[in-house]
Amino acid sequence: MSGQTTNLAAVVHGPNDLRMEEIAVPVPGEGGKTGVHKCCCRSGRWGSAGSDIKYWRDGRCGRFRLTSPMVIGHEASGTVVGVGPGVLHLKLGDRVAIEPGVPCRKCQYCKSGRYNLCPDIVFCATPPGDGNMCRYYIHPADFCFRLPDCVSLDEGALLEPLAVAIHSCRKGDVTSGDSVLVCGAGPIGILTMLVARRLGAEKIVITDVDIQRLEFAASLGASTLLVQSQTQIELCTGITDLLQGRPRSVFECSGVDTNLHLAIDVVAPGGVVVMVGRGSSDLKLPVFQITSKEVQIKGVFRYSNCYRAALNMVLSMPDTNIKQLITHRFPLEGAIKAFEMASGRNNGAIKVVVQCDAITD
Ligand SMILES: [Zn+2]
Repeated sequence: MSGQTTNLAAVVHGPNDLRMEEIAVPVPGEGGKTGVHKCCCRSGRWGSAGSDIKYWRDGRCGRFRLTSPMVIGHEASGTVVGVGPGVLHLKLGDRVAIEPGVPCRKCQYCKSGRYNLCPDIVFCATPPGDGNMCRYYIHPADFCFRLPDCVSLDEGALLEPLAVAIHSCRKGDVTSGDSVLVCGAGPIGILTMLVARRLGAEKIVITDVDIQRLEFAASLGASTLLVQSQTQIELCTGITDLLQGRPRSVFECSGVDTNLHLAIDVVAPGGVVVMVGRGSSDLKLPVFQITSKEVQIKGVFRYSNCYRAALNMVLSMPDTNIKQLITHRFPLEGAIKAFEMASGRNNGAIKVVVQCDAITD
């Protein structure tokens, strides 16, 4: 850790204003009264996520709005280069995945395990908290997960969206033999599809407007439906034909309002609709359908206690290498180009990775 004087960071200043800047090099200090011991990581990989893109494009994401310049990025892995006093489970040179949300550890939500709902949670790249797309980043050590030798820094970074998928499938009560619909074949949709299959879902249909994304999902074993100009009735028929019935769990991962209506329409009576994507804040819903079918609509906000499960899933399914999602790579200096690629349509991009070290392949 000694001798580092520069710390290049991707800093978003406002809509369409992302700058590469040098920021201070962090130092892991004492745990202090909180007893939270920290470590410093030299960054390895970051995934460019949907919320990062929203802060870059719009200066806001959902109810969170930029109020001052913010380091972007929250899907990260790295190598430990400094540990504060009291850090016992990590040592210099360990490679880690960084769980980006750090809660208070004291409130009723934290104590009950639902720490994603902690009112005092500090989450990377959610205002006013800085993200971790910088060469050196300091983080509470208990939210850094050591990676076994067989798990790469790429996979370490992808544990974050995989954690979202695991949390979503837990909400969707996916069990063996289920029929599942996933709306949206972006990284979260595809990972949700993979997790659902891992949990035993027998039939899975995934929809999107992007043919290349659907081709990729099909290569991983999903049935696909291209959404073009069909009516909702036509889409319902297409989905139920592919599934040979109605889905018991539907995951709305696109953030497109019409897909939430489709989900409620097509889901089986007594089924679950999980809202993973974020659509309009004031959407009208078909209340009669929801009540008469006893549809359970569940919101998803990040995740809790999913990183360990995500790591175990990577270790236990070598046949489904999540690194396949990575379609493009950029160096940290090219972070702006990475976000442009990640936000493009019909360009073949699934997961765009920014990396700290040299790109060799
Ligand atoms: Zn809390």
